[in-house]
Amino acid sequence: MISKEKTMTALEKMYEMFPEAEGELVSDSPFQLLIAVILSAQATDVSVNKATPALFEAFPTPEKMAEAPLEEITDKIRTIGLYRNKAKNVKACAEQLLERFNGEVPQTREDLVSLPGVGRKTANVVMGDAFGIPAIAVDTHVERVSKRLRICKLKANVSEVEETLMRKVPEELWIKTHHTMIFFGRYHCTARAPKCDVCPLLDMCQDGKERMKEKTK
Ligand code: SF4
Repeated sequence: MISKEKTMTALEKMYEMFPEAEGELVSDSPFQLLIAVILSAQATDVSVNKATPALFEAFPTPEKMAEAPLEEITDKIRTIGLYRNKAKNVKACAEQLLERFNGEVPQTREDLVSLPGVGRKTANVVMGDAFGIPAIAVDTHVERVSKRLRICKLKANVSEVEETLMRKVPEELWIKTHHTMIFFGRYHCTARAPKCDVCPLLDMCQDGKERMKEKTK
């Protein structure tokens, strides 16, 4: 694993590459963000953003979503992967917000993960993006980039990746780091074709160096 200092050097370069990195899910309220993040599990933000305008126009609040017939929610999100299950979760989540939280999205991780369809990653995104509470949500991009650069151990599970990042990165940079690593993984260090040949981190990236060697063979 690389040191705290090297981790921050790598992150500084990523911040420079993607100064505008931010959440790409479109929403008008913490409730809509929560729903959008639930819908984004194992689906792209682009596919979620295509479906949510009609969904949120019809059911913009927990009250409206809880009252909505399940078939209508299902119908509006059927272009998103795993839509049947997600429709059930979205409706149940709205119901529980009304029953247990006065119709407000809770701000603690413990309360958030008690809602249907909400895991730790979703809770972290909502805490950071809806409320500005420091959190690092580890998605596929954050995990891949952390491992390629050896910021964390190759065998680390998602919780261990999160813990390692929280230990190495100052808390005030957690939200920015989460967004920046997602952009870096989505647009530069992609799963199938990372741009190692033009990567400013190549000199400190074991994975990138091995890939470049393979290319020249
Ligand atoms: Fe990703 Fe390649 Fe850059 Fe390493 S050198 S961080 S693998 S793009």
